[in-house]
Amino acid sequence: MPTNFLHTPIDYLNGVGPARAKLLKAELGISTYGDLANLFPNRYIDKTKYYKINELVPDSAHVQIVGKVTHLKTMGDGRASRLIATFIDGTGSMELVWFKGQKYFKDNLKLNEPYVVYGKVSKYGSKYNIAHPDVELLKEHRSRQQSAMTPIYPSTEQLTKRNVTNKMVVRMMQQLFSEVQNSFTETLSDQIRAQHQLVDKNTAMYNAHFPKSAALLQQSIYRLKFEELFFIQMELLLQNRIRKSRIKGYAFEKVGEQFNDFYSNHLPFELTGAQKRVVKEIRADMGTGAHMNRLLQGDVGSGKTIVAVLTCLLAIDNGFQACIMAPTEILAQQHFQGVSELLKNTGLQVALLTGSVKTKARRVIHSDLEDGSLNILIGTHALIEDKVVFKNLGVAIVDEQHRFGVAQRAKLWKKNNLPPHVLVMTATPIPRTLAMSLYGDLDISIIDELPPGRKEIKTVHRYDKNRLGVFSFLKEEITKGRQVYMVYPLIEESETLDYKDLMDGYESVVREFPAPQYQVSIVHGRMKPEDKDYEMERFVKGETQIMVATTVIEVGVNVPNASVMVIESAERFGLSQLHQLRGRVGRGADQSFCILMTSYKLSNEARTRIETMVATTDGFEIAEVDLKLRGPGDMMGTRQSGVLALRVADIVKDNDILAIARNTAIDLLQKDATLELPEHASIKKVLQFLQSKKGLWKYIS
Ligand code: ADP
Ligand code: MG
Repeated sequence: MPTNFLHTPIDYLNGVGPARAKLLKAELGISTYGDLANLFPNRYIDKTKYYKINELVPDSAHVQIVGKVTHLKTMGDGRASRLIATFIDGTGSMELVWFKGQKYFKDNLKLNEPYVVYGKVSKYGSKYNIAHPDVELLKEHRSRQQSAMTPIYPSTEQLTKRNVTNKMVVRMMQQLFSEVQNSFTETLSDQIRAQHQLVDKNTAMYNAHFPKSAALLQQSIYRLKFEELFFIQMELLLQNRIRKSRIKGYAFEKVGEQFNDFYSNHLPFELTGAQKRVVKEIRADMGTGAHMNRLLQGDVGSGKTIVAVLTCLLAIDNGFQACIMAPTEILAQQHFQGVSELLKNTGLQVALLTGSVKTKARRVIHSDLEDGSLNILIGTHALIEDKVVFKNLGVAIVDEQHRFGVAQRAKLWKKNNLPPHVLVMTATPIPRTLAMSLYGDLDISIIDELPPGRKEIKTVHRYDKNRLGVFSFLKEEITKGRQVYMVYPLIEESETLDYKDLMDGYESVVREFPAPQYQVSIVHGRMKPEDKDYEMERFVKGETQIMVATTVIEVGVNVPNASVMVIESAERFGLSQLHQLRGRVGRGADQSFCILMTSYKLSNEARTRIETMVATTDGFEIAEVDLKLRGPGDMMGTRQSGVLALRVADIVKDNDILAIARNTAIDLLQKDATLELPEHASIKKVLQFLQSKKGLWKYIS
């Protein structure tokens, strides 16, 4: 068998003509033998069991029975016309019914010969029947390539319409496997197979389609999942290694005066264990002389800012500058205030650069940057403009990464001769295993611990009819001096309607909370940026007590005195968005609350989201539920990745296998970094094939 046998165009397969080949390509992306072999069943039907007619019960569903046809008759006229066969097996009698293809069965069914029939049982009067059963002579049934379970393949509407049935796909697959025989090449090493007790490739492929037993099926699927995830991890690890060895970075060799002085004398609090660990990881990374490209994940309020500041100090100690980039003007301002406050006794120079900085002030910033007297520049994307030139930028920190495009980040890389180290901070928790497969080319640090003494946000679910109660609760909190967010959904397709909801909501809030006793702010996407900032500013300063807003406040705004978050039509928000919104409160010393308002009617999924929010404040737990509800395709960043076009494995359900596969890949690369050992030849070959297919960097040659 030639090695490229699996590359044979599918048209060559017996029973697949040009028309069907075209259909298979369009509907399932199948154009070669190999593609077909890699179309795996969604599920299997157990055909090991044969039923007796007297064992049937009304909900037997799909069954297989051995028996004989004793009698055929045609009944009814027109559309009610049907062929009825009397079918007996020694324990009883039942009927087989055909509405379509009557003539064929009338002419071809053999009376009093043993048949195996298969189909869905129903009961009509006192008699069981199967409409349009699969029928097969017992002797043919026995001689046919038998497997315990019948595979059910993925199908599409078009395939069904064009009569490409599951039976037909099964036949194609049988044909394929009779031609292919054992020509699948083993891709894993003997050592890995032995270590993880994996069946060989041929056994796995065959049994995934035609399982000889439930046990073999399970082992085969496990092996195929392992293989799939293992090669993805190998690719990611190799890409990461390339990046590290190819891309030089500035080596921050020393931990110097600024860092040590700040750490001993100016830290406003003791770092949490997680913060310390992450700072160590960053320090180790930037010390190596390779370029750092690190993702820092930490739930809202977990204390990422201080990590950013310490990272800046490391750069400064080594003679470099640092910058922090935020997605909005308000956030940049808050960072600037926060960082300036932290560094006020250090003598370090910090400046803010946003779109609204006046030309004159801007000129000063530019020149201070260029002569190196400015140590840290904080700003919006104004900071990556070409005219902003650093004397010696060593590290760029990007907050809330999902608001930045890849191109913008790339611009940062060009701000010095060697690319500055990059630390991307995000509050969008991604389950660790998913992050591993998505961002294998980034190093990941996680702050998984909140600062001590944080009061858990109390979250409740209220229906619209409880609104009066909610309003009086808000009044109590405002009387205590607290501030309140009220967030409305704004989803693009129904924007006009949503906008009306928002305005109606705003008006009813103003009616309920009248001036001058209460002041209400409103912020939404249709406002001019200046007006938005102005209203935001009033709320930040405490001049208004209630902020009615759309999700524009989702990202990073910090108003410690705001302790109540009311989310209107909460059923319309996704879980991660609800979690982000809730993170706007709980930042001060006071008990905070999140009130999820919904209508009575909730879909099951919406109910799960609301219940999850009420049950936990752990962002990673929420992300796991979110992942299960929506699948990875909808999660942030997954679309660009392509990593998730999995054939057998399921990124959510097969987490455990993923972890094992990753560790196996890590071990392997530690033992044989360039895959030179002869026992790794098969693995190397697969990777070479994958990289040639994707045109990636050559990480193995
Ligand atoms: P985020 O991760 O959301 O950016 P911040 O860095 O804004 O979080 O920190 C949230 C709040 O927690 C800030 O008020 C900060 O001063 C405080 N904080 C951070 N780390 C600690 C700590 N180790 N101990 C006590 N408070 C902390
Ligand atoms: Mg932050």
